[in-house]
Amino acid sequence: MSHCSRHPEKKSTGTCRVCQKTYCPECTGSSIGICPGCVYKGLIILLIVMIVVSYSAWFGIF
Ligand SMILES: [Zn+2]
Ligand SMILES: [Zn+2]
Repeated sequence: MSHCSRHPEKKSTGTCRVCQKTYCPECTGSSIGICPGCVYKGLIILLIVMIVVSYSAWFGIF
């Protein structure tokens, strides 16, 4: 039996698809099979991608 990497007292329900860390139902992103750390990393990457896309769209107009 393994435990959640974020909540040591909780039993893990799966492992992260990105970094293989264990997570429990209380962890953010557990419903999509990703640990909280990777959810935040994904959000930051998404934000950067959105900024880059909006900038290129902005300069494409002018
Ligand atoms: Zn992860
Ligand atoms: Zn947890």
